Amino acid sequence: MKKAAFASCLGGGAAGALVLFFLDPVHTPIYPVCAFHRLTGLDCPGCGSLRALHALLHGHPVTALHDNLLLVISLPIFAWLGFRFASSQIQGRPMETIRPIWLWLYLAAWLAFGVLRNLPFQPFASFAP
Ligand SMILES: [Zn+2]
Repeated sequence: MKKAAFASCLGGGAAGALVLFFLDPVHTPIYPVCAFHRLTGLDCPGCGSLRALHALLHGHPVTALHDNLLLVISLPIFAWLGFRFASSQIQGRPMETIRPIWLWLYLAAWLAFGVLRNLPFQPFASFAP
């Protein structure tokens, strides 16, 4: 059962990457619009994530960093967590837990990024997608 869930996660991720590769978020209206941005006009920490992933899939890391800096620099962390999850599933053992301090620090980084990217002066204004 766990291997089926793991395979489903991999398949879902690959399907999502294919959709994102072929359908540009800037020109394709199938993607959800950020409710926070729509309501406030401000960029949340996740704004620009789809555009950043699309740019990365097309080999444009500088554009990706401009669209969502924190997401792009977080991708190695997500890859490491995915590797840990996959190895635990393959070996049939439970995944080791992450210390809460790391989750709190990551949450604090996201919140700080969300505030800083909306400041109207440089260098923070260049973090806005
Ligand atoms: Zn947003």
